[in-house]
Amino acid sequence: MADLLDYPLPKLEERFAAMGEPAYRARQVYQWLWQKGVVDPEKMTNLAKPLRARLAEELSVVLPTVARLQESGDGTIKLLLELADGEAVETVLIPEKDHYTLCLSTQVGCAMACAFCATGTLGFIRQMRPGEILSQILHARRVLEERGSELALRNLVFMGMGEPLNNLDNVLASLETITSELGLNFSTRRVTVSTVGVPDKLERLGEAGLASLAVSLHAPTQELRERIMPRAARACPLPELMDRLMRYPLKPRQRITFEYILLGGINDSPAHARDLVRLFSSFRGSKPKINLIAFNPPAQGPSLGFRAPSPEDVEQFQELLRNKDITVMLRKSKGQDIGAACGQLRAAHEFAPEP
Ligand code: SF4
Repeated sequence: MADLLDYPLPKLEERFAAMGEPAYRARQVYQWLWQKGVVDPEKMTNLAKPLRARLAEELSVVLPTVARLQESGDGTIKLLLELADGEAVETVLIPEKDHYTLCLSTQVGCAMACAFCATGTLGFIRQMRPGEILSQILHARRVLEERGSELALRNLVFMGMGEPLNNLDNVLASLETITSELGLNFSTRRVTVSTVGVPDKLERLGEAGLASLAVSLHAPTQELRERIMPRAARACPLPELMDRLMRYPLKPRQRITFEYILLGGINDSPAHARDLVRLFSSFRGSKPKINLIAFNPPAQGPSLGFRAPSPEDVEQFQELLRNKDITVMLRKSKGQDIGAACGQLRAAHEFAPEP
């Protein structure tokens, strides 16, 4: 049975038309789902009873269940969601000064096998459907509501388990509902899709214009990128990636963010920082912004064989970039005590299932 949560509004209107129902009925149902968080057709009180019964018969709503909730000392909340087929994904609520950011998963596992990532150790298991991707937001909102949180969920980042561009159709369908005025109504400026860079798919994401772009760079040279993110680096070699990014369509004042995870002794030396400066010196797109993230070995789950960089190395790396007029932010690692980095909860669950 088709899942109501999978439908962006235009598709839902088509489906209702095929059922002989007017478009405004589809809009009413869509608003119940996404604006009021009501997923049971019986509770959609402005619909006629026969339509409610028909919806319950022909279209289901499959919400994942929360298998585990963990809260960090810094307020980060991590949910392990169990999907209908028993697979599990995680979603992480990160508190900021005046709002929450939610980190969303898009695939169960991931085929890219980046060496520093817990999700990479799982391999690709399956794609998440749009409704499953969006359910993470419904659960996060409910958790905040139940706790009477004063901070609202305002930002979304597609940075959890999976490579979003390897599930692009479903990610785009979920972005339609996320940014639709009758749906979740997030501003496109508050939604970021993070990718290692997948040729052609990158262009499709840009054309859709539904989110900002973050690129997981993590190495300043093709050689080093091949070492720590072999599949991504081979699928789109660094010179080609930078070339594609220079042509990436941006809205006024929009910039591409580059993510760079500092791995102790691997990519965190002054020579690496200078290579990075060189890489960006020929970048003729928008002025890049670099987010540096100091790697933290996972508190739970498999050991990945990497170590944290020293605070001195992080400081020096940052300074070398700043001195060359590159916008650089040092992102604080949150939820460290609960293993909130990408894929760690799911991986820990696999390795140490709850009794
Ligand atoms: S870092 Fe992202 S792309 Fe790489 S293995 Fe992990 S989830 Fe996949």
